[in-house]
Order: sequence, then C-alpha cells, then structure tokens
Amino acid sequence: MNIASVWLSGCTGCHMSFLDLDERLMELPRLARIVFTPFADMKSFPQDVDITLVEGAVATSTDLELLRTVRASTRQLIAFGDCAVTGNITAMRNTFGRDQVLAAAYGTEGKHFGQDASHHLPSLLEQVLPIHRLVDVDFYLPGCPVSHELIWYVLTEMIEGRRPVLDRKKLRYG
Ligand code: SF4
Repeated sequence: MNIASVWLSGCTGCHMSFLDLDERLMELPRLARIVFTPFADMKSFPQDVDITLVEGAVATSTDLELLRTVRASTRQLIAFGDCAVTGNITAMRNTFGRDQVLAAAYGTEGKHFGQDASHHLPSLLEQVLPIHRLVDVDFYLPGCPVSHELIWYVLTEMIEGRRPVLDRKKLRYG
C-alpha cells in the first residue's frame, strides 16, 4: 500500500495537523509506504499510488499541473481539508479580479508577476477552485484544519480497504 500527500494553495495547516499524529507517525510506515510528501525532499510524484491526500485549493498553474499528475497516478484521491473541499480561505480572492490581487500585493509591477516566465513564478489562475471542479475526488475529508484524529481514522480505514464513515461524532474530533 503506497500513500502520498501534496499541498496546493492553502496554509499548510492540514499537514501540520498530520504531524500532530505524533507517535502514530512511527506506526504509519508499518501500515503503508509513504512515497511522496512535502515533508520529505522528493522531486517528482510517483506512479502507482494507492491513496493521496490533497491539501489546498487550485489557485495557480503549478497547482493545476500537480493535481492532474496526482489524479493520473492515484487510485483513491482524498480532498484533504476545507480548502480542497470548497476553496475555503484560499478562494476568498475570487471576490476580486486576479489583476487587482496582484496589483494590491506587488503594486504597479503586479500585473507582470506570474504571467511572465522570467519571474519564475507560477501564474495565478483567474479563479481559485476546489479540486472536485477539476478532477474526480474519491473522498472528502473536511475541517480547517482537519483534526489529527479524523486523519488517522480515515487513513487507517482506507488502508484496510474500508470506506470511512464520517458521522457527527467523528466530525467533532478536535
Ligand atoms: S483547510 Fe484550513 S488549515 Fe487546511 S490548508 Fe486550508 S486554511 Fe489551512
């Protein structure tokens, strides 16, 4: 069983919650092989991944490219946290136009940022989107951030080949 995680545009808080698994992080490698994660220095997303947690919304050209790569190589894709599920905080910029956001952040130079390869920045998409608007999602894992108890429950159920059930009690995990 190969598992992976990626982050797109979010605050990384859902991955910080993953780290809150503490001693269970030592147990996880006994259940599954972690083949890709932002916590390790891995350059390219591997093929043949069983489960991938995707944190964050799709806000840039780089997010979109990575998400498509992940989807093509993953059997079960989890929308990991509210930014991935709904767009959440990342999508607040949709209230404004992309150029307005760039100008507010970078002043008069802003309109060039990210749209020109010489800046080595990914270009901002016109709209921030939750991941299900772009690829198929197999499981939605809500929370901002997702609680570590819920992460553990969902991951271990899926590793065992069961579909997790998110009832009210589990969604109150803190
Ligand atoms: S869902 Fe919340 S904690 Fe997770 S990446 Fe988005 S803003 Fe951060």
